[in-house]
Amino acid sequence: MLAAWASRRPLARNLPALLAILGAACLLSLIGIPTTVAAQHPSTSESPEPAASTTAAADSQAVPVTLVLLGHSVQGRPIRGVEMGAGPRWLAVIGGIHQGREANSTVLANLLLHHFRHNLAEIPEGVGLAVIPDLNPDGALAGTRANANGVDLNRNWDAAWQPDAYGPSGLVPGAGGTRPFSEPETRALARYLLDRPFVAAIFLHSRGGLVVPGPGGGSVQLANTIARAAQYTYLRGWTAYPLSGQASKYLARRGIHVAIVELTTHTHPDFPQNLQGLRAALAWTQHLPPPTEPRGVADAEFSHICRTLPGPYRAGLTSPLCPW
Ligand SMILES: [Zn+2]
Repeated sequence: MLAAWASRRPLARNLPALLAILGAACLLSLIGIPTTVAAQHPSTSESPEPAASTTAAADSQAVPVTLVLLGHSVQGRPIRGVEMGAGPRWLAVIGGIHQGREANSTVLANLLLHHFRHNLAEIPEGVGLAVIPDLNPDGALAGTRANANGVDLNRNWDAAWQPDAYGPSGLVPGAGGTRPFSEPETRALARYLLDRPFVAAIFLHSRGGLVVPGPGGGSVQLANTIARAAQYTYLRGWTAYPLSGQASKYLARRGIHVAIVELTTHTHPDFPQNLQGLRAALAWTQHLPPPTEPRGVADAEFSHICRTLPGPYRAGLTSPLCPW
């Protein structure tokens, strides 16, 4: 099934997209591996060692590696992720929420996935790492920032949502979608992050050489931690243009700390910097308390949004517009 998925992704003309596809091949290479891979955790997070360099077999601990399907895009392409570790506190890294000029975020996510897949012992004990390299596979194929409906997947969340939304090129009519969570890609990620014990999420974008926190003190700490380790500039808030329907604002309200990483350019993945940044974020996550209670099923919230939509959007209540 994954091979068929791969064959539907033609070679792209620009380098970031090509690298993104090569990165997808790394994800595909996980097929056929056992879902649980033997590795060894270091005794402390301060002294991580690659599994190959550890010797005490009696101390070895199985580190699960699991390929997960979050959902499907507008055009039916699978949105996949890889979970590494056992938790109970989980950190997510999400690439490709914007494609087009930001395709290097997917390249970076795949490079990070490849690194940790082969260095499982670097994941601190008590922490799980989930990498979702490409939230927007239709946009990756088409070379567009938005998804196949022309919706900006970082303007479609239920947080100060607006139907028309700003991006780098100004106000784009309809870029917020027809309602909060109108897009299958945003619903898939929200469900995934809320149904599991995620405590933190890092969204990869470009460009700027910046780390921006979501709301709240935990997000500020996380963004500062990454900025220091990756030697990026810490930016307290985005002021270039007004933002609506952002993932970070929605997730912070639900108890998930968020940092937004803007790679330095639109072309380079900044892998060494972000490897340091992610290592620091994992160590920071290790000291967070795991979620103590379920955050609720996202489906119920989606239903609530459908019931409470204002004005013309309510017209979709009994149509496939609100299918959940
Ligand atoms: Zn972006």
